[in-house]
Amino acid sequence: MKRGEFVVEVILSELKSLVRAIPDYPKPGIMFRDVTTLFADAQGFKAAIAQIAEPYRTQPIDAVAGIEARGFILGGAIADRLGCGFIPIRKKGKLPWKTISQDYELEYGTDTIEIHEDAVSEGERILIVDDLIATGGTAEAAVKIITRAGGVIEGAAFVIDLPELGGRAKIEAMGVACTALMAFEGH
Ligand code: AMP
Repeated sequence: MKRGEFVVEVILSELKSLVRAIPDYPKPGIMFRDVTTLFADAQGFKAAIAQIAEPYRTQPIDAVAGIEARGFILGGAIADRLGCGFIPIRKKGKLPWKTISQDYELEYGTDTIEIHEDAVSEGERILIVDDLIATGGTAEAAVKIITRAGGVIEGAAFVIDLPELGGRAKIEAMGVACTALMAFEGH
């Protein structure tokens, strides 16, 4: 897409075509959906941010919580658009102040996310943002850590859903409404 007059109503097939598919990364059988090519396209990035934020403009969101690292790029821009603050959900050991942590299962082993213990105020209404939902393990951990900190989850927003992996259905079964701009078949 060319720079110039910005159009937020960029059609979905154009946005989908801006996501690069990398077969067998990081390991055989995985089709990696690379959003850096979408982020690098001025009009595509602007349209994606506008379209992700749109359903939440009329919802009472107090803060966006973005999941490291691609969730930061999206979450900061969406928070700006919604006129609210931003909370980073980071990988273990990165935050400088006192933290609370949440473990979650990976295919092999476990991982941990953290937020500052004072990042969320009691009753604050939070929108969780990440680039992609696959099995939903990361998003589930994000819902749990924000809820434990006193936040109320207003929703979870993604650029990409991989429905065959069932993550969105899992998060919605926890009572959290999800939105995704686009879906791809496969893993
Ligand atoms: P999951 O916890 O299984 O829902 O995985 C979601 C997290 O892993 C997100 O932060 C994604 O950035 C990353 N991820 C998982 N699968 C893919 C994939 N096929 N392409 C790109 N990123 C992925």
